Amino acid sequence: MAVRHIILLGPPGAGKGTQAKRLEEARGMVQLSTGDMLRDAKSSGTEMGRRVAEIMDKGQLVTDEIVIGLIEEKLNGGGQGNGFGGFIFDGFPRTLPQADALGALMERKGQKLHSVIEMQVDDAALVARITGRYTCGNCGAVYHDVTRPTKVPGTCDVCGSTDMRRRADDTEEALKTRLMEYYKKTSPLIGYYWAKGKLASVDGLAEMDAVAGAIAKVLDKD
Ligand code: AMP
Repeated sequence: MAVRHIILLGPPGAGKGTQAKRLEEARGMVQLSTGDMLRDAKSSGTEMGRRVAEIMDKGQLVTDEIVIGLIEEKLNGGGQGNGFGGFIFDGFPRTLPQADALGALMERKGQKLHSVIEMQVDDAALVARITGRYTCGNCGAVYHDVTRPTKVPGTCDVCGSTDMRRRADDTEEALKTRLMEYYKKTSPLIGYYWAKGKLASVDGLAEMDAVAGAIAKVLDKD
């Protein structure tokens, strides 16, 4: 399978993380989630973690400088080995300066962005999706109280861990701020990538398998 570097773009709760995990399994792609990196920094108690914790919990965006630095580190991280299917940028870029920085970084590395996949969802669905969400702290599998609970309550279907976590910013209050940040700062990227001829849109409200199928179609196009 050809190496494809893609961006998953969409509001919080659109299903970016869920689809990124599937692409990792199906195509050997590597998810680069700035949200996950920032949560790791937060729990490791570093100086940067302390600085970003409060901002994240409120649902605001952290500075471009910090997230660009995190992505740069990953892209400079060296060989990806056999079977590497490409990077999935999940939750990055979220602003126009971040998009410009990613373009420059990839150009410097001689890498090409294949496509930007916009996951379209309507806002009413997002509140329900976000407020019921929990993930396995061990393997990252994503669950939902109503639509996708674990088979055994409190135990991960995939790895058997009982370390189930809810995000500090998956509350209705923080979600309002996250959505506002999305519309003000991130949604202009839709036009930006459309103008570059990179944009593809999929229906993020379809069944999970159907969304995965639509994404696969985009990836298989030249
Ligand atoms: P996510 O897991 O992608 O929903 O990100 C969780 C939180 O991390 C966001 O609400 C922001 O506070 C922060 N964050 C993640 N990615 C970025 C980014 N690219 N730019 C700015 N802040 C980010």
